[in-house]
Amino acid sequence: MPSSENLLQRKKNKLQRIREILCCPICGSDHIANLDTILQCRNCQEKFSISQSTYKFLSQRLIDYGKIKPTANISAHNYDSIALNFIDKYKEGLILDNGCGLRNVYYDNVVNFEIVDYPTTDVLGIGEKLPFKSDAFDAVFSLNVLEHVKNPFECAEEILRVVKPGGILYVVVPFLQPFHGYPDHYYNMTSTGLKNLFSEKVQVIKCSVPFSGLPVWCLSWFLNSYIHGLPDSVADKFKLKRVSELLNVPMESLEQDFVTQLSAEVNEELACTNSLIAKKVENHFQFRGVNSEPQQYKVQEYQTELERLQLQLLLAQGKIAAMESSKFWKLRKVWFRFKQSVGFSTDADIINDKDTL
Ligand SMILES: [Zn+2]
Repeated sequence: MPSSENLLQRKKNKLQRIREILCCPICGSDHIANLDTILQCRNCQEKFSISQSTYKFLSQRLIDYGKIKPTANISAHNYDSIALNFIDKYKEGLILDNGCGLRNVYYDNVVNFEIVDYPTTDVLGIGEKLPFKSDAFDAVFSLNVLEHVKNPFECAEEILRVVKPGGILYVVVPFLQPFHGYPDHYYNMTSTGLKNLFSEKVQVIKCSVPFSGLPVWCLSWFLNSYIHGLPDSVADKFKLKRVSELLNVPMESLEQDFVTQLSAEVNEELACTNSLIAKKVENHFQFRGVNSEPQQYKVQEYQTELERLQLQLLLAQGKIAAMESSKFWKLRKVWFRFKQSVGFSTDADIINDKDTL
């Protein structure tokens, strides 16, 4: 990492260099005026702030639009050899690192674009509305980012818009990765899904599994999280299991400690599937993009909170219904009744049995 003084000067130089490729992320106009510490779009009048070293295209409307939440998580990864090759190939050009996180090396030909104002961030903004003119970049990187955006299709359109014809896209997205924030995690993708994001608008040079995406990382991440989600004594037993024991998971395993005692958080983090039961709300405001009035956002927020509570109730009801219809639950009931009939049942059994009926 360069010294902070050196970094500041290099960032200032870069901001000056990219001033001419900026456009308004709200309306797309390139008539943007510098007013001291403010950039203002001459077309839609939206204002954005500038610091010494960062263009801040994150007005409240864009924060709401991208559903950006504040986060204390720091996303920091090194470039792989593929990215480094492109950085070298376009050393006289300009690359957009879209959702770069915190970088430990600062390149003068790479524009660090982020939702978080890290020391290496050059431009703050959201991927759904890039503040850059069309055809502005020789290459665009989107490295482990598209799973975190609310609308990956819109982000993909924006990536395509700002890269020059003939320019390069380097996109990495997780497929079998557990839930992780930074600050949100929406969609994992198969390789087919990834190609479909850009469809016929690109010519695929290579679609493959990068070194950082080998299945072994998936196994390791999964098992580490699984073990952390268990109480210590159960985790110790689980670590002694053989792989062969896990290859077939008979239904009986679902009642074993390593399944029943996994924490709720880790169940969600590693879920094989997620389910949703939802009810279409009445009088639901249509989301009108970044031009919506602030009051509509407020109403929408309340409605979303109400929807969330309703869903929680429905999900809890669904869970109870699923438990009651499960094979084990039925067997358990039969067992309690058997114990009752032969006079072995305890008070606790009777209470449990009543609960299940
Ligand atoms: Zn504008």
